[in-house]
Amino acid sequence: MMVDLRSDTVTQPTPAMREAMLAAPLGDDVFGGDPSVNALQEKIAGLLGFEAALFVPTGTQSNLCAILSHCQRGDEYIVGQMAHCYRWEGGGAAVFGSVQPQPLNHQPDGSLALADIEAAIKPDDAHFARSRLLALENTLGGKLLPFEYVQQATALAKSKGLDRHLDGARLFNAAVAQAAQTGGNPCPAAGPSQGGAAPAGGSDPHEVGERGGDIFAEARRIAQCFDSVSVCFSKGLGAPVGSALCGSREFIARAHRIRKMAGGGMRQAGMLAAAASHALDHHVGRLAQDHALARHLADGLAGIQGLEVEVPQTNIVFVDLTGAARAQSAALLKHLASQGIEATGLYRLRFVTHLDVDAAGVDRAVAAIRQFFKAK
Ligand SMILES: *Cc1c(COP(=O)(O)O)cnc(C)c1O
Repeated sequence: MMVDLRSDTVTQPTPAMREAMLAAPLGDDVFGGDPSVNALQEKIAGLLGFEAALFVPTGTQSNLCAILSHCQRGDEYIVGQMAHCYRWEGGGAAVFGSVQPQPLNHQPDGSLALADIEAAIKPDDAHFARSRLLALENTLGGKLLPFEYVQQATALAKSKGLDRHLDGARLFNAAVAQAAQTGGNPCPAAGPSQGGAAPAGGSDPHEVGERGGDIFAEARRIAQCFDSVSVCFSKGLGAPVGSALCGSREFIARAHRIRKMAGGGMRQAGMLAAAASHALDHHVGRLAQDHALARHLADGLAGIQGLEVEVPQTNIVFVDLTGAARAQSAALLKHLASQGIEATGLYRLRFVTHLDVDAAGVDRAVAAIRQFFKAK
């Protein structure tokens, strides 16, 4: 059995999700007539407290639709150097929208310093692009942005007349981590319903939805600081395809036009929407298991000479190779691959937990890494 820790995008739809996809009533969504797409859009908008939502094929297209709906040609958006909608989307906002990014360096916790944001907002002067939008990402590199910071940064942007967009590809991971901090106990591994202490215990790890309530409340608390929010269904939620962009009715109408221009008008998309809807019903509560397994992985790697393990807040573990171990990076990945374990990175390795990884898989990864360094 492969243990694929490259990304939480690698998950296969569960049998129950496939059934939901097959059973979905379908129509032509370009005519607005796909009942499953319409139901998903209403559901995610309602869950996050927005008037409307738009189902899109990818998170990249969702961010593109958002930025081009907030900004005109010659406007700019303030964004982090490592933000997906700046660094990892081919420069789409600039290419397709003539919208200029103003990237800022991140603080160690992933935030953009308030003073840096304020200093980056340009006065209304013919020399400058028009500062129009602040785009944040939560989680960023697996890190939860502190909620107080989110409130302060978005309030600052609003006070300066900027719109606020959240790339919440992993918003529900953020919500799980935040719920744990604010005293809620959304962790199924620690809850009585699971009846066991093992991180991925329980008879059916895919169907732990009963704790979802706290998490949706936290997700909504984060989302409501923003004018628009993009969420991915194809990451930790385990759907094969799809993201949603949420906002006001008027904003979503603009985004709808841009989705069409970007070639994102899909026809009987209800099969995909049904998978996303199933994920919202069944795969949100279980994200805490991914987080517990990520900690389990990090704990297992602690103390190995040459590895600096970042304590994970959610489902992503970064491991830096230092000193002599740096030269071993490629050999380590090869050794892991030979044992059916996949990860990404070079000197900074990334391991992502998700619903197709269990405790036994994580234990195998830990054992293989320990064995590699022992043999050196
Ligand atoms: C994956 C991801 C996206 C884009 O998703 P795609 O569906 O791969 O286009 C956007 N933002 C963040 C933070 C992501 O992790």
